[in-house]
Amino acid sequence: MKTKLLPRTPARSWHALAPAAWLPVLAAAAITFAPAAGAQDKVLNVYSARHYQTDEQLYGEFSRQTGVKINRIELGDEPLLERMKSEGDKSPADVVLLVDATRLFRAQSEGLFQPIQSKVLNERIPAEFRASDNSWFGFSSRARVIVYNKDNVDPKDVQTYESLADPKNKGKVCTRSGSHPYNLSLFGAMIEHHGLEKTEAWLNGLVANMARSPKGGDTDQIKAVASGECGVALTNTYYWVRLMRSDKAADQEVVSKVGMVWPNQATTGVHMNLAGGAVARYAPNKETAVKFLEYLASDQAQAYFANGNNEWPTVKTARTGNEALASLGEFKADKMATDRMAARSTDAQKLLDKVGYK
Ligand code: FE
Repeated sequence: MKTKLLPRTPARSWHALAPAAWLPVLAAAAITFAPAAGAQDKVLNVYSARHYQTDEQLYGEFSRQTGVKINRIELGDEPLLERMKSEGDKSPADVVLLVDATRLFRAQSEGLFQPIQSKVLNERIPAEFRASDNSWFGFSSRARVIVYNKDNVDPKDVQTYESLADPKNKGKVCTRSGSHPYNLSLFGAMIEHHGLEKTEAWLNGLVANMARSPKGGDTDQIKAVASGECGVALTNTYYWVRLMRSDKAADQEVVSKVGMVWPNQATTGVHMNLAGGAVARYAPNKETAVKFLEYLASDQAQAYFANGNNEWPTVKTARTGNEALASLGEFKADKMATDRMAARSTDAQKLLDKVGYK
Protein backbone atom coordinates (compact mmCIF):
# COMPACT_ATOMS: atom_id res chain seq x y z
CA MET A 1 0.00 0.00 0.00
CA LYS A 2 1.17 3.50 -0.80
CA THR A 3 1.62 5.73 2.20
CA LYS A 4 3.03 9.21 2.33
CA LEU A 5 4.64 11.08 5.16
CA LEU A 6 3.25 14.53 5.67
CA PRO A 7 5.42 17.55 5.01
CA ARG A 8 6.40 19.33 8.21
CA THR A 9 3.94 22.15 7.82
CA PRO A 10 0.68 22.74 9.65
CA ALA A 11 -2.60 22.19 7.86
CA ARG A 12 -3.80 25.08 5.74
CA SER A 13 -6.59 26.98 7.38
CA TRP A 14 -10.09 26.73 5.93
CA HIS A 15 -10.26 30.53 6.20
CA ALA A 16 -8.02 30.71 3.16
CA LEU A 17 -10.65 28.98 1.09
CA ALA A 18 -13.88 30.85 1.62
CA PRO A 19 -16.57 29.52 -0.71
CA ALA A 20 -16.80 32.86 -2.53
CA ALA A 21 -13.27 32.27 -3.78
CA TRP A 22 -14.42 29.09 -5.45
CA LEU A 23 -17.32 30.52 -7.36
CA PRO A 24 -15.45 32.22 -10.22
CA VAL A 25 -13.27 29.11 -10.58
CA LEU A 26 -16.26 26.80 -10.75
CA ALA A 27 -18.13 29.11 -13.13
CA ALA A 28 -15.12 29.36 -15.44
CA ALA A 29 -14.72 25.60 -15.40
CA ALA A 30 -18.37 25.13 -16.31
CA ILE A 31 -18.05 27.42 -19.33
CA THR A 32 -14.71 26.15 -20.58
CA PHE A 33 -15.21 22.45 -19.94
CA ALA A 34 -18.91 21.82 -20.42
CA PRO A 35 -19.13 18.11 -19.57
CA ALA A 36 -20.30 15.63 -22.17
CA ALA A 37 -23.14 13.27 -21.33
CA GLY A 38 -22.22 10.11 -19.44
CA ALA A 39 -19.70 9.55 -16.69
CA GLN A 40 -18.18 13.03 -16.91
CA ASP A 41 -21.35 14.80 -15.84
CA LYS A 42 -21.57 12.82 -12.63
CA VAL A 43 -20.80 15.15 -9.78
CA LEU A 44 -20.66 14.90 -6.02
CA ASN A 45 -21.01 17.94 -3.79
CA VAL A 46 -18.90 17.59 -0.67
CA TYR A 47 -19.34 20.06 2.19
CA SER A 48 -16.19 19.73 4.24
CA ALA A 49 -14.98 21.21 7.52
CA ARG A 50 -11.60 19.59 6.88
CA HIS A 51 -8.91 20.84 4.55
CA TYR A 52 -5.46 19.28 4.41
CA GLN A 53 -2.53 18.82 2.09
CA THR A 54 -3.52 15.22 1.35
CA ASP A 55 -6.91 16.32 -0.06
CA GLU A 56 -5.82 16.37 -3.70
CA GLN A 57 -4.83 12.71 -3.44
CA LEU A 58 -7.92 11.85 -1.39
CA TYR A 59 -10.45 13.39 -3.79
CA GLY A 60 -8.46 12.87 -6.96
CA GLU A 61 -8.24 9.12 -6.42
CA PHE A 62 -12.04 8.86 -6.08
CA SER A 63 -12.53 10.81 -9.32
CA ARG A 64 -10.01 8.56 -11.09
CA GLN A 65 -11.74 5.41 -9.86
CA THR A 66 -15.30 6.51 -10.61
CA GLY A 67 -15.22 9.34 -13.15
CA VAL A 68 -17.18 11.47 -10.69
CA LYS A 69 -16.18 15.12 -10.42
CA ILE A 70 -16.09 16.41 -6.86
CA ASN A 71 -17.21 19.94 -6.03
CA ARG A 72 -15.87 20.93 -2.66
CA ILE A 73 -17.31 23.59 -0.38
CA GLU A 74 -14.93 24.15 2.52
CA LEU A 75 -16.08 25.97 5.62
CA GLY A 76 -15.63 25.79 9.38
CA ASP A 77 -17.90 23.33 11.19
CA GLU A 78 -20.43 25.88 12.43
CA PRO A 79 -20.71 27.99 9.22
CA LEU A 80 -21.03 24.78 7.24
CA LEU A 81 -24.01 23.61 9.28
CA GLU A 82 -25.56 27.09 9.19
CA ARG A 83 -25.30 27.07 5.41
CA MET A 84 -26.99 23.67 5.17
CA LYS A 85 -29.80 24.83 7.43
CA SER A 86 -30.40 27.96 5.38
CA GLU A 87 -30.36 25.97 2.13
CA GLY A 88 -32.96 23.57 3.53
CA ASP A 89 -34.33 21.00 1.08
CA LYS A 90 -32.68 22.91 -1.80
CA SER A 91 -29.21 22.13 -0.42
CA PRO A 92 -26.88 20.71 -3.09
CA ALA A 93 -24.82 18.99 -0.36
CA ASP A 94 -24.36 15.26 -0.93
CA VAL A 95 -21.66 14.43 1.60
CA VAL A 96 -20.87 16.28 4.81
CA LEU A 97 -17.49 15.96 6.56
CA LEU A 98 -17.25 17.23 10.15
CA VAL A 99 -14.89 17.08 13.09
CA ASP A 100 -15.89 15.71 16.51
CA ALA A 101 -18.68 13.33 17.48
CA THR A 102 -20.58 16.05 19.34
CA ARG A 103 -20.85 18.12 16.16
CA LEU A 104 -21.89 15.09 14.11
CA PHE A 105 -24.45 14.17 16.74
CA ARG A 106 -25.89 17.70 16.76
CA ALA A 107 -26.15 17.84 12.98
CA GLN A 108 -27.87 14.46 13.03
CA SER A 109 -30.29 15.68 15.76
CA GLU A 110 -31.07 18.74 13.65
CA GLY A 111 -32.11 16.51 10.76
CA LEU A 112 -29.25 17.38 8.41
CA PHE A 113 -28.23 13.76 7.70
CA GLN A 114 -29.95 10.63 6.51
CA PRO A 115 -29.21 7.10 7.75
CA ILE A 116 -27.74 4.82 5.10
CA GLN A 117 -27.37 1.08 4.73
CA SER A 118 -23.87 0.02 3.71
CA LYS A 119 -22.39 -3.40 4.29
CA VAL A 120 -18.92 -2.02 3.54
CA LEU A 121 -19.16 0.72 6.17
CA ASN A 122 -20.73 -1.55 8.78
CA GLU A 123 -17.97 -4.08 8.30
CA ARG A 124 -15.01 -1.72 8.09
CA ILE A 125 -15.81 1.04 10.60
CA PRO A 126 -15.76 -0.25 14.21
CA ALA A 127 -19.09 0.15 16.02
CA GLU A 128 -17.72 2.69 18.52
CA PHE A 129 -16.77 5.00 15.65
CA ARG A 130 -20.18 5.26 13.97
CA ALA A 131 -23.70 6.32 14.91
CA SER A 132 -25.89 3.44 16.04
CA ASP A 133 -28.56 4.54 13.53
CA ASN A 134 -26.02 4.61 10.65
CA SER A 135 -26.45 8.35 10.13
CA TRP A 136 -22.72 9.13 10.36
CA PHE A 137 -19.39 7.30 10.27
CA GLY A 138 -15.96 8.11 11.71
CA PHE A 139 -13.04 7.99 9.26
CA SER A 140 -10.16 9.07 11.49
CA SER A 141 -9.63 9.09 15.23
CA ARG A 142 -7.74 11.16 17.78
CA ALA A 143 -7.20 10.86 21.52
CA ARG A 144 -7.65 13.58 24.14
CA VAL A 145 -4.53 13.41 26.26
CA ILE A 146 -2.90 15.17 29.21
CA VAL A 147 0.24 17.28 28.77
CA TYR A 148 2.33 18.60 31.67
CA ASN A 149 5.31 20.85 32.36
CA LYS A 150 8.29 18.58 32.94
CA ASP A 151 9.95 20.99 35.41
CA ASN A 152 6.96 21.82 37.58
CA VAL A 153 4.71 18.78 37.54
CA ASP A 154 5.29 15.17 38.55
CA PRO A 155 3.65 12.99 35.88
CA LYS A 156 2.53 10.64 38.68
CA ASP A 157 0.11 13.38 39.79
CA VAL A 158 -1.65 13.67 36.41
CA GLN A 159 -2.23 10.10 35.23
CA THR A 160 -6.02 10.37 34.97
CA TYR A 161 -8.70 12.86 33.94
CA GLU A 162 -10.03 12.48 37.49
CA SER A 163 -6.66 13.54 38.98
CA LEU A 164 -6.90 16.97 37.33
CA ALA A 165 -9.59 17.83 39.89
CA ASP A 166 -7.46 16.70 42.84
CA PRO A 167 -6.55 19.56 45.25
CA LYS A 168 -2.85 18.68 44.79
CA ASN A 169 -3.15 20.14 41.26
CA LYS A 170 -4.55 23.47 42.47
CA GLY A 171 -3.57 26.44 40.31
CA LYS A 172 -2.13 24.21 37.58
CA VAL A 173 -4.92 23.22 35.18
CA CYS A 174 -5.57 24.91 31.81
CA THR A 175 -8.16 24.04 29.17
CA ARG A 176 -9.81 25.67 26.20
CA SER A 177 -13.47 26.61 26.73
CA GLY A 178 -15.45 23.87 28.44
CA SER A 179 -18.19 24.38 25.85
CA HIS A 180 -15.95 23.49 22.93
CA PRO A 181 -17.11 20.21 21.34
CA TYR A 182 -13.76 18.50 22.17
CA ASN A 183 -14.38 19.10 25.87
CA LEU A 184 -18.13 18.48 25.73
CA SER A 185 -17.43 15.05 24.22
CA LEU A 186 -14.92 14.23 26.97
CA PHE A 187 -17.24 15.49 29.70
CA GLY A 188 -20.09 13.53 28.11
CA ALA A 189 -17.93 10.41 28.38
CA MET A 190 -17.26 11.21 32.05
CA ILE A 191 -21.03 11.43 32.63
CA GLU A 192 -21.47 8.03 30.97
CA HIS A 193 -18.74 6.53 33.17
CA HIS A 194 -19.46 8.21 36.50
CA GLY A 195 -22.96 9.67 36.38
CA LEU A 196 -24.11 13.28 36.65
CA GLU A 197 -23.40 13.84 40.33
CA LYS A 198 -19.78 12.66 40.33
CA THR A 199 -19.08 14.46 37.06
CA GLU A 200 -20.42 17.70 38.51
CA ALA A 201 -18.11 17.33 41.51
CA TRP A 202 -15.20 16.60 39.14
CA LEU A 203 -15.94 19.66 37.00
CA ASN A 204 -16.16 21.75 40.16
CA GLY A 205 -12.70 20.48 41.09
CA LEU A 206 -11.35 21.33 37.62
CA VAL A 207 -12.64 24.90 37.90
CA ALA A 208 -11.14 25.20 41.39
CA ASN A 209 -7.76 24.02 40.06
CA MET A 210 -7.52 26.33 37.06
CA ALA A 211 -4.40 28.40 36.52
CA ARG A 212 -6.39 30.85 34.39
CA SER A 213 -9.80 31.28 32.86
CA PRO A 214 -10.30 29.00 29.80
CA LYS A 215 -9.14 30.61 26.56
CA GLY A 216 -7.49 29.74 23.24
CA GLY A 217 -7.26 26.42 21.45
CA ASP A 218 -5.47 23.19 22.37
CA THR A 219 -2.13 24.37 20.94
CA ASP A 220 -2.36 27.49 23.12
CA GLN A 221 -2.73 25.24 26.17
CA ILE A 222 0.38 23.25 25.22
CA LYS A 223 2.36 26.47 24.76
CA ALA A 224 1.13 27.82 28.11
CA VAL A 225 2.23 24.55 29.75
CA ALA A 226 5.68 24.97 28.18
CA SER A 227 5.96 28.57 29.40
CA GLY A 228 5.02 27.51 32.94
CA GLU A 229 1.84 29.60 33.03
CA CYS A 230 -0.01 26.28 33.28
CA GLY A 231 1.21 23.03 34.83
CA VAL A 232 -1.11 20.65 33.05
CA ALA A 233 -3.60 20.78 30.16
CA LEU A 234 -5.78 18.72 27.83
CA THR A 235 -5.10 18.43 24.11
CA ASN A 236 -6.05 16.33 21.13
CA THR A 237 -3.10 14.22 20.00
CA TYR A 238 -2.80 15.79 16.54
CA TYR A 239 -2.01 19.24 17.96
CA TRP A 240 0.83 17.71 19.95
CA VAL A 241 2.12 15.71 16.96
CA ARG A 242 1.90 18.82 14.76
CA LEU A 243 4.26 20.60 17.17
CA MET A 244 6.53 17.53 17.27
CA ARG A 245 6.81 17.65 13.47
CA SER A 246 7.29 21.40 13.23
CA ASP A 247 10.51 22.84 11.81
CA LYS A 248 10.21 25.99 13.90
CA ALA A 249 12.73 26.35 16.71
CA ALA A 250 10.05 27.87 18.96
CA ASP A 251 7.84 24.80 18.53
CA GLN A 252 10.73 22.44 19.24
CA GLU A 253 11.43 24.46 22.39
CA VAL A 254 7.81 23.92 23.45
CA VAL A 255 8.04 20.18 22.78
CA SER A 256 11.24 19.91 24.83
CA LYS A 257 9.53 21.31 27.93
CA VAL A 258 6.33 19.28 27.80
CA GLY A 259 5.53 15.65 28.57
CA MET A 260 2.49 13.69 27.43
CA VAL A 261 0.44 11.21 29.45
CA TRP A 262 -1.99 8.61 28.11
CA PRO A 263 -4.74 9.12 30.69
CA ASN A 264 -6.69 6.42 32.53
CA GLN A 265 -4.57 3.49 31.36
CA ALA A 266 -5.37 1.49 34.50
CA THR A 267 -9.10 2.20 34.26
CA THR A 268 -11.35 3.36 31.41
CA GLY A 269 -8.67 4.12 28.79
CA VAL A 270 -7.95 7.36 26.95
CA HIS A 271 -10.92 9.30 25.58
CA MET A 272 -11.19 8.93 21.80
CA ASN A 273 -12.93 11.15 19.27
CA LEU A 274 -13.19 11.26 15.51
CA ALA A 275 -13.65 13.13 12.28
CA GLY A 276 -16.42 11.69 10.20
CA GLY A 277 -18.88 11.96 7.40
CA ALA A 278 -22.51 11.53 6.52
CA VAL A 279 -24.91 11.64 3.60
CA ALA A 280 -26.86 14.90 3.61
CA ARG A 281 -30.60 14.64 4.19
CA TYR A 282 -31.51 16.06 0.75
CA ALA A 283 -28.49 14.71 -1.15
CA PRO A 284 -29.23 15.03 -4.90
CA ASN A 285 -26.68 12.25 -5.59
CA LYS A 286 -27.31 9.84 -2.75
CA GLU A 287 -25.98 6.71 -4.42
CA THR A 288 -22.68 8.38 -5.30
CA ALA A 289 -22.53 9.86 -1.79
CA VAL A 290 -22.71 6.37 -0.27
CA LYS A 291 -20.02 5.22 -2.70
CA PHE A 292 -17.82 8.10 -1.61
CA LEU A 293 -18.17 7.20 2.09
CA GLU A 294 -17.34 3.59 1.21
CA TYR A 295 -14.29 4.85 -0.67
CA LEU A 296 -13.24 6.78 2.48
CA ALA A 297 -13.23 3.44 4.29
CA SER A 298 -10.74 1.92 1.79
CA ASP A 299 -7.19 1.40 3.08
CA GLN A 300 -5.73 3.93 0.66
CA ALA A 301 -8.26 6.72 1.35
CA GLN A 302 -7.93 6.03 5.08
CA ALA A 303 -4.21 6.77 4.89
CA TYR A 304 -4.82 10.10 3.10
CA PHE A 305 -7.64 11.05 5.43
CA ALA A 306 -5.79 10.23 8.66
CA ASN A 307 -2.41 11.59 7.56
CA GLY A 308 -3.94 14.90 6.59
CA ASN A 309 -4.26 15.70 10.28
CA ASN A 310 -1.88 13.31 12.06
CA GLU A 311 -4.71 11.01 13.11
CA TRP A 312 -5.28 7.27 13.19
CA PRO A 313 -7.41 5.53 10.57
CA THR A 314 -10.59 4.07 12.05
CA VAL A 315 -10.31 1.05 9.73
CA LYS A 316 -8.06 -1.54 11.37
CA THR A 317 -6.28 -2.72 8.22
CA ALA A 318 -5.25 0.79 7.11
CA ARG A 319 -1.67 2.02 7.68
CA THR A 320 -0.38 5.59 7.54
CA GLY A 321 3.39 5.43 8.04
CA ASN A 322 3.17 8.48 10.31
CA GLU A 323 6.31 8.02 12.41
CA ALA A 324 5.74 10.94 14.78
CA LEU A 325 2.30 9.64 15.65
CA ALA A 326 3.63 6.09 16.04
CA SER A 327 6.36 7.41 18.36
CA LEU A 328 3.68 8.22 20.94
CA GLY A 329 3.52 4.48 21.56
CA GLU A 330 0.79 1.98 22.37
CA PHE A 331 -2.14 2.90 24.57
CA LYS A 332 -5.41 1.63 25.94
CA ALA A 333 -8.37 3.40 24.31
CA ASP A 334 -11.79 3.96 25.81
CA LYS A 335 -14.10 1.89 23.60
CA MET A 336 -17.23 3.81 24.56
CA ALA A 337 -19.50 4.43 21.57
CA THR A 338 -18.76 7.96 20.39
CA ASP A 339 -22.44 8.67 19.76
CA ARG A 340 -23.29 7.68 23.33
CA MET A 341 -20.93 10.25 24.83
CA ALA A 342 -21.94 12.86 22.23
CA ALA A 343 -25.57 12.34 23.24
CA ARG A 344 -24.49 13.47 26.72
CA SER A 345 -23.06 16.77 25.50
CA THR A 346 -26.23 18.68 26.39
CA ASP A 347 -26.08 17.31 29.95
CA ALA A 348 -22.39 18.24 30.02
CA GLN A 349 -23.17 21.84 29.03
CA LYS A 350 -25.77 22.09 31.81
CA LEU A 351 -23.17 20.98 34.36
CA LEU A 352 -20.69 23.53 33.01
CA ASP A 353 -23.25 26.30 33.47
CA LYS A 354 -23.93 25.04 36.98
CA VAL A 355 -20.30 25.01 38.12
CA GLY A 356 -19.31 28.19 36.27
CA TYR A 357 -16.90 26.50 33.81
CA LYS A 358 -16.54 28.98 30.94
FE1 FE B 1 -9.01 20.49 16.08
